[in-house]
Amino acid sequence: IGYMELLVNGNNIPEETRDKYLKVAYNKSLRLQKLIEDLFGFTKLNYGKIAMNIAKVDIVKLMAQLLEEFYPNFMENSLEYSLESTENQVMIEADGDLLARLFDNLINNAIKYGKDGKKVSVVIRKVDDIVHVAVINYGKVIPKEDIDKVFNKFYRVEQSRSVNTGGTGLGLAIAKNIAMMHGGDIVVQSDLYGTIFDVTLSVNYNKEKYVYENRDLI
Ligand code: ATP
Ligand code: MG
Repeated sequence: IGYMELLVNGNNIPEETRDKYLKVAYNKSLRLQKLIEDLFGFTKLNYGKIAMNIAKVDIVKLMAQLLEEFYPNFMENSLEYSLESTENQVMIEADGDLLARLFDNLINNAIKYGKDGKKVSVVIRKVDDIVHVAVINYGKVIPKEDIDKVFNKFYRVEQSRSVNTGGTGLGLAIAKNIAMMHGGDIVVQSDLYGTIFDVTLSVNYNKEKYVYENRDLI
């Protein structure tokens, strides 16, 4: 919507820029279409019936692409963003569409709840066969009593219900589910130094582990 607003409201946008905005908006709407289909199938996700398409994914490239798609939203909220990585390329075995959805949810939250914080950072660290992808924002701290519950379906922190951020409280439940489908996890830490959602993923997709974790989710 951000890119389409730029197109609708902008005058004399150079053709090249217009094409770029159109392409981003088109790709994003394709992903949204898929998201809606999958939301209807949320129960299926819980029952492990979503087929995973495992392929080699460069997580650095994926994060760079996602951040670029969010550019209008960052701009609208006067936020800067940065991407840091210990390596230029980090290849992992994963379902790229599912990972895009996971990080889409985290970046969305970082913007929505980190508006007062000036900046959103993504930090990728590869440690042996594990990759950490941390999405960090500043601004609203998640209260201690809520921190263990934010991954629960439909759970929203009281303060975010009163301000009009209009979510359903499914974003983090879906994100956690997707991480676990990959044999990974997400942990959160929130204090005055920032709110960090740290996603861990293995470089190698381990089918045994996936079957086990997924059975655990039912
Ligand atoms: P939805 O994602 O379904 O649109 P939502 O954003 O409210 O709705 P979740 O993404 O599951 O739901 O997040 C749950 C709650 O955790 C949010 O309502 C918010 O209070 C808190 N939260 C999530 N991410 C952050 C963050 N980066 N900083 C501060 N609070 C957060
Ligand atoms: Mg959310």
